[in-house]
Amino acid sequence: MKSTLEDTLLASIRTIPDYPKPGILFRDITTLLGDARAFRRAIDELVHPYAGMKMDKIAGIEARGFILGGAIAHQLSAGFVPIRKKGKLPHETVRVAYSLEYGIDEMEMHKDAIEPGEKVILVDDLIATGGTAEAAVKLLSQMGADLVAACFVIDLPDLGGRRRLEELGVTVRTLIAFEGH
Ligand code: AMP
Repeated sequence: MKSTLEDTLLASIRTIPDYPKPGILFRDITTLLGDARAFRRAIDELVHPYAGMKMDKIAGIEARGFILGGAIAHQLSAGFVPIRKKGKLPHETVRVAYSLEYGIDEMEMHKDAIEPGEKVILVDDLIATGGTAEAAVKLLSQMGADLVAACFVIDLPDLGGRRRLEELGVTVRTLIAFEGH
């Protein structure tokens, strides 16, 4: 019997309890990435709605968003733009602060990475509270990007990140969801 996309993806993601700290169920996609069929199916599904559309850039959030975003960019013949923790990019950057559970952090992208009006898809592996993705959306809108969608393999709907992005007017696509956090 042919397994559904959801079955394939769920079976390929490993859950590590209490990592990186007690109470967190860490959804580890390295096992998905290491499974040729699951990786291909996830990328095919993420690019599917945009096949035949002209996409300019895929923006990936450090670090797992780089792996997914690179594959998506290749498939859509788009460029890839890294969004990184502060201090990692060598050229002039735009920067945004965002709050974490304890304190704040900053992320940045190169100032010349995106031209105003370019069509961009934002990519990360997972959306939880949406704080990280919201900061990335702010950076992209500062650059004048035309944000087509924000795409994630995993949604943790109980943490409300999807709703948070949708309230900003962002189209959100996710492939599977896990209850809880
Ligand atoms: P958030 O800003 O709360 O939406 O968190 C999203 C970011 O943190 C993403 O870059 C995820 O890779 C990572 N993350 C948050 N929660 C988890 C989790 N339970 N398992 C794996 N990664 C997570």
